[in-house]
Amino acid sequence: MISLKSERELDQMRKAGKTVAQILDEMSQLVQPGITTGELDRYAESRCKELKVVPAFKGYHGFPATVCISVNDEVVHGIPSPKRILKQGDIVGLDFGVSREGWYGDSARTVAVGSIHQEAQKLIDVTEEGLKKGIAVCHEGNRIFDIGYAVQNYVEGFGYSVVREFVGHGIGRALHEDPQVPNYGSKGKGLLLKVGMVLAIEPMINAGRYEVRVLEDGWTAITVDHSLSAHFEHTVAITSAGPEILTLV
Ligand code: MG
Ligand code: MG
Repeated sequence: MISLKSERELDQMRKAGKTVAQILDEMSQLVQPGITTGELDRYAESRCKELKVVPAFKGYHGFPATVCISVNDEVVHGIPSPKRILKQGDIVGLDFGVSREGWYGDSARTVAVGSIHQEAQKLIDVTEEGLKKGIAVCHEGNRIFDIGYAVQNYVEGFGYSVVREFVGHGIGRALHEDPQVPNYGSKGKGLLLKVGMVLAIEPMINAGRYEVRVLEDGWTAITVDHSLSAHFEHTVAITSAGPEILTLV
């Protein structure tokens, strides 16, 4: 079942998305050598209270925190900790969502901790651009794998790989709705895109091999070869005027 959102419902999702973007922006500005991932998480949780939104991830399938914070070779679903101190040269993925009056927004970005190696910066830049390439094909009449094709075709040109094990998703009244939105695939295949669909598109891109494994904590996914990984995500509505990114301030 794929739900199509009305204009009024999209308005609700715009508000949720804007709040996600605002808190993510604030959190990104706090990232610096010496801060712990636990502090970043507590900051986001307190801002959710102030802005009267509900953290989307806390308690979701038992996830213990407000933000998924994944450092360096961690791909997604890293658990924040007061013991995890960020250091100069790290790259840190912040994945964050809220629900506001029952409507969800979900976004992620990877940011530099202090000054980082140029190879790490390139992975970040290419992943962000890969997301843009995927968003650009979110037009009515295109197909779901056109998104993955656009992402994969772009990032593999730099020798990077697309994580297969985790994918993007529909979003609305629930954090994860149908359809799944892979970041790989063949042009012209899969579900037809329609006006009113809202998709969370979220490429996870590895500098090395695409395989990941989950640590003993049951959550944190890391690259099997310990190469760096970056992650960007936006909640995107398909409108008659084209793609509209909802998770912007
Ligand atoms: Mg997310
Ligand atoms: Mg997501």
